[in-house]
Amino acid sequence: MLRKNKRGIYSLTSFSDFKNLICAFSTASFGNMKPNRNLETSEVEKNRSKFFDRLSLKKPSVVTAEQVHGGRVSIATEKDAGRQIKGADGLATREKNLFLMVFVADCLPIVAYDPKKEIVGIAHAGWEGTTKKIASDLIEVFIKFGSNPKNVLVGLGPGIEFCHYEVGNAVANKFAQAGLGEAVLKSLSGKVLVDLKSANIKTLTEAGVNKSNIDASLKVCTYETGDFFSFRRGDGDSRIAAVIGLKNGN
Ligand SMILES: [Zn+2]
Repeated sequence: MLRKNKRGIYSLTSFSDFKNLICAFSTASFGNMKPNRNLETSEVEKNRSKFFDRLSLKKPSVVTAEQVHGGRVSIATEKDAGRQIKGADGLATREKNLFLMVFVADCLPIVAYDPKKEIVGIAHAGWEGTTKKIASDLIEVFIKFGSNPKNVLVGLGPGIEFCHYEVGNAVANKFAQAGLGEAVLKSLSGKVLVDLKSANIKTLTEAGVNKSNIDASLKVCTYETGDFFSFRRGDGDSRIAAVIGLKNGN
């Protein structure tokens, strides 16, 4: 379950019992976390430092993904610190003190952690990433690293819920083609709505993740919750950050 702590940061209850694991979502009150045409990089840096300070991270090594609405998950290593990995929408690492970050405003942030192998991962899944099954690619990287998917904990962060995620028929068809047709819903008034969370849960369980290991944060819709940015509500280029990483365990 998503929960806001006293420091004004959201985290997932099922990820909060691990001493060295940092897994958090910023809110709109921290400001935009992603550089864009209208915002100086220094402003973004300031917003990020405020967020990291609140997480008690001093100048952390951060890796970001280009986020091209694709399905690729890249492995991040220490040499990627401070970099953005081109062509990636997801990241995974076995290294400590390397924090993986994606930016979202309605798209679904997916975080993953294998407590046995100490691997962390993250992905950004809008309708494109979801139909390209980025969630499955994320688990595949964990398996490549030696994880048993049954041991992987997955969390779905704040995203748009189906109540506010109306799509056209072309997008609905992509879900059907991907075998995710159950995530497409029709309202009584004839609107076509997509449930990004249930689509990703299906993909994750097919990839071997236990459903009971998925923290799905129901009842948080970015469109409705002023705590987050929402593209559909009109927040333009502003994005919150989702971050995951392991501190050194001493
Ligand atoms: Zn909603």
